[in-house]
Amino acid sequence: MSPESNPKLTVFPSTSSIDERGHLHIGGCDAVELAAIYGTPLYIFDEDAIRAKCREFKQEFGTLYPDTLVTYASKACSNRAIAQIMNEEGLGLDVVSGGELYVAESVKFPADRISFHGNNKSEIELRQALSCGIGRIMVDNLHELMLLDRIASEKGITQNITLRIAPGVDAHTHRHTTTGLLDSKFGFPLATGQAEEAVAKASSATHVNLVGLHFHLGSPVTETSPYEMAIDIMLKFARDMEQKYGFKLKEFVPGGGFATQYMVKEPVLPVAGYAAAITARIKKNVSELGLSMPKLIIEPGRAIIGQSAVALYTIGAIKPIPDIRTYVCVDGGMGDNIRPAIYDSAYEALIANKAGEPESTTVTIAGKYCESGDILVRDTTLAAAEAGDILAIPVNGAYAIPMSSNYNMVTRPAVIMVKDRTHRLIHKRETYEDLLRLDVI
Ligand code: PLP
Repeated sequence: MSPESNPKLTVFPSTSSIDERGHLHIGGCDAVELAAIYGTPLYIFDEDAIRAKCREFKQEFGTLYPDTLVTYASKACSNRAIAQIMNEEGLGLDVVSGGELYVAESVKFPADRISFHGNNKSEIELRQALSCGIGRIMVDNLHELMLLDRIASEKGITQNITLRIAPGVDAHTHRHTTTGLLDSKFGFPLATGQAEEAVAKASSATHVNLVGLHFHLGSPVTETSPYEMAIDIMLKFARDMEQKYGFKLKEFVPGGGFATQYMVKEPVLPVAGYAAAITARIKKNVSELGLSMPKLIIEPGRAIIGQSAVALYTIGAIKPIPDIRTYVCVDGGMGDNIRPAIYDSAYEALIANKAGEPESTTVTIAGKYCESGDILVRDTTLAAAEAGDILAIPVNGAYAIPMSSNYNMVTRPAVIMVKDRTHRLIHKRETYEDLLRLDVI
């Protein structure tokens, strides 16, 4: 069976193939064997695919704009194995909680390459960040600015900060993932004068050093025009703030949000497309406005990790409803991947032990959770499914496991990493003992 035999492989990790038995392989490992070894549901990350994306981002942005730091948004998927890869690849790390920072610290991720985001960081989290010597804190509101200035003063240090600004640009993403508008919980709105007030206050604060401006429009942003529009607005704002307050823009962060291809028939812009548009627009503005070239920091999450992982499930009950639809039920669902339920996210699926067979039945893949909305994939085509088959859903590296829950007291899946025909456990499957570990009677 040739790798081209199933077009769905387009959205599987680049190392994927189909063998002569019709089994899906990822990173040189037979997915059906992995399911037998580790059980299902199982999340398989492909190390080569992750590293290739890190390199693609560094290459595409770095060639056009050498002073670029590619910073992985660890909310997309945070664990020690991934943080270690990001460090080895020379990326920065964006964290949004004390927990994500703790993961970074546990692998000795260089603190000067860590950025701390979040709209309501606690005093404890800010102290943790300052204690580890974090590179930059992305300040989201005045409460945080004042709190940080006080803590830094107590510690006798001056902390580098970047202000997160809401530029008022619509990125046309799902309403739950649009973040750059005026009506957003994130950042200082530009339109109301609050962004300017923040620059003024940060410039006069004694223990913070304002080095940059940040915006993040949403996720995924499938066009380049929202970035271009926001860059124009933000760099003009930087020039105005230089004139009024002497603020020098040393770091400019146009966020993450770069798209990843989920569906075979819905290709997205390549990394090179985003890199060309963003870097050209920054250069144009910098030269027209007479600014110095700032360091560029980008924060991709999904686009680095999304396509690197495949979720495997075992098919159990199959419920045909004549003239309506057939439900194929699997042993996971919204507890390990809530994205279809909250964002209407669409996925491809294939049967890993029948990956080369004709896919002529249209079915809906349902999870095992007690919610009618627990549907993983609606109206997809599969080979004839039977109980015991292994179902593979690709593009599951981002925002699935990190948003997972123990709803219905179902244990969370095991997570493994594959590379060059080898596999290793990177996160154990939860047990019933784990469910009771923190429970007090
Ligand atoms: N940067 C910030 C500030 C974010 O809030 C997010 C996602 O919510 C990201 C980067 C990463 O977005 P994505 O995973 O779409 O690249």
